[in-house]
Amino acid sequence: MPIRQLPEPLINRIAAGEVVERPASVVKELVENAIDAGARRVLVTTAHGGKSLIRVEDDGCGMNEADLALSVERHATSKLDSDALDDIRTLGFRGEALASIGSVSELRISSRPADAESGFTLTVSNGRKRPPMLLAMNRGTSIEVRDLFAQVPARQKFLKSDRAEANAITDVLRRLAMANPAVHFRIEGSDRSGLDWPAVDGDGALATRLSQVMGGEFVDNAVPLAMARHGVVLAGMAGLPTFTRANSLNQYVFVNGRSVRDKLLTGAVRAAYADYVFRDRFPVIALYLSIDPGEVDVNVHPAKAELRFRDTGAVRGAVIRGIGEALHAAGFKASNTVAE
Ligand code: ADP
Ligand code: MG
Repeated sequence: MPIRQLPEPLINRIAAGEVVERPASVVKELVENAIDAGARRVLVTTAHGGKSLIRVEDDGCGMNEADLALSVERHATSKLDSDALDDIRTLGFRGEALASIGSVSELRISSRPADAESGFTLTVSNGRKRPPMLLAMNRGTSIEVRDLFAQVPARQKFLKSDRAEANAITDVLRRLAMANPAVHFRIEGSDRSGLDWPAVDGDGALATRLSQVMGGEFVDNAVPLAMARHGVVLAGMAGLPTFTRANSLNQYVFVNGRSVRDKLLTGAVRAAYADYVFRDRFPVIALYLSIDPGEVDVNVHPAKAELRFRDTGAVRGAVIRGIGEALHAAGFKASNTVAE
């Protein structure tokens, strides 16, 4: 076969394979966009585990007509104003999500900036874009994704039951809510009984959000983390060694506001608790790390759940030390610490 340049809809569909694995990945991309847009309220509605419907409505900055048309183009982003990939402070930056989602679903984006009289709405139907049309609406953005992967049987085959997909969506939303206590999250639709996590602010905001999302029992059985060491700032709450689980599903780790699954960090958590919990038990933890964005590379994987640290020793050391000190303060003494 001769070489041919692939048409754009096909290129987008191939890229979609990386960015949009399942309904939960769509929810993650859309809610991250809402947060990047400065939303104070995010409403998520899903049906059939997100397969038939995902809708994310926000009260963020909105888009004007020109930006709306650009938003679904590949590699179009408002978040990289220079070529500085080493200083990323927004959740998004690849400019791929909306183009990808639009290539594998019925996508409708409606948006109105605060200073505009009315909004515009635009649809992309499995890669076919239509121009924006005028629409009366509140300020903010509403994005609706219907019939995800209906035209991509290969991908549809790998989706799990509605219930399993709905659970994955809830997990994604939990993580986003834990990372953004000042944002009000509401989750509706036929997939679950509604969830409502009002915005929290000021002293104790994080503990309140953690009890909203993880349950009050965790907060009652956890100690606060607070430490700064070698440029790594630690916050959150560490569950007591007496409050463990049979798996690691309740270990949440955030780096610079982003939920991550990182072997170095989960390894450091395990090491910090090694003296306190049996090897087949897992502590519950909500660990928040802040670190100079230049010290960490989030551009490792399209979903940005993995990362690389420049100074892995400093990060590991800070986590072990921070958790250790918090547990020590709560009266737990590691066997290998020198007795006072
Ligand atoms: P990225 O988030 O990496 O920039 P996306 O494809 O997710 O790429 O979004 C493309 C652009 O569309 C964003 O850079 C942003 O300017 C705009 N956008 C997307 N969602 C929203 C939203 N909810 N509110 C305001 N602008 C948005
Ligand atoms: Mg995005």
